Amino acid sequence: MYIDAHLHSCFSGDSETPPEKQIEKAISLGMKRMCFTDHHDPCVESDVDFELDYSSYFSKMQELKEKYAKFIEIGIGVELGLQPHIGELLKNITSKYPFDFVIGSIHFVDGYDPYYPEYFHIYKQKAYRTYFQTTLESIKAAPCFDSLGHLDYIARYGGPFGLTYSYDEYADSIDPILREVIDGGRALECNTGGLSRGLSDPNPCFDALRRYKELGGELITLGSDAHDPSTLGYRFDEVGERLRAIGFTHYAVYKGRKPEMMSL
Ligand SMILES: [Zn+2]
Ligand SMILES: [Zn+2]
Repeated sequence: MYIDAHLHSCFSGDSETPPEKQIEKAISLGMKRMCFTDHHDPCVESDVDFELDYSSYFSKMQELKEKYAKFIEIGIGVELGLQPHIGELLKNITSKYPFDFVIGSIHFVDGYDPYYPEYFHIYKQKAYRTYFQTTLESIKAAPCFDSLGHLDYIARYGGPFGLTYSYDEYADSIDPILREVIDGGRALECNTGGLSRGLSDPNPCFDALRRYKELGGELITLGSDAHDPSTLGYRFDEVGERLRAIGFTHYAVYKGRKPEMMSL
């Protein structure tokens, strides 16, 4: 069973799952390692609290790491919300805490979360391009993450507003992001949260993952984005096979912010 390196617990404002439940599910699936990546989106206004209480997070995770050590190795990571204007703050956070793994994700564009319809009412036909532009600006401003989370996250939400999506349609917006990730020595995440939300592809889509490989990208991380145990490790076997068909032979698992290559 592949290692899940993107999952949430009740330390995230949008999950009520006790971390023990995620750990027990991972063990039952036969995972030997897993990494928690609870949310921290600094400087946003939202009904959901996307702050992370680092002191209780690290103390609880450290306790669980020891408690379950015989059964599974637990990594302590974070899914950090990137925004172009808070680069310094994000760098300070990542240098202050002893993370195993930092996922950089774009959840807010100029203060708007594409999870809510308002975003699409404002940006209309430009909704996807604006998201990708903000992604590029954010990763340039805050190159302090290990893996870029769910690159085409926006594609999860645009369907009901009549927006179509494919890599080809947005290649000119996506390629500069892939190049920036590769040049910066960072990883690209393959997030099966797209599949568990009913899309035909993970995030990013297989065509974008293929393009990443074509451009010289080697580092891939794998995560389900599970907010409860039902989607932990979601369709990993199938996605692993697709990644092998694209030409990837390994995926990366981070420990102490360093990638370890595991075979696919
Ligand atoms: Zn996310
Ligand atoms: Zn997530």
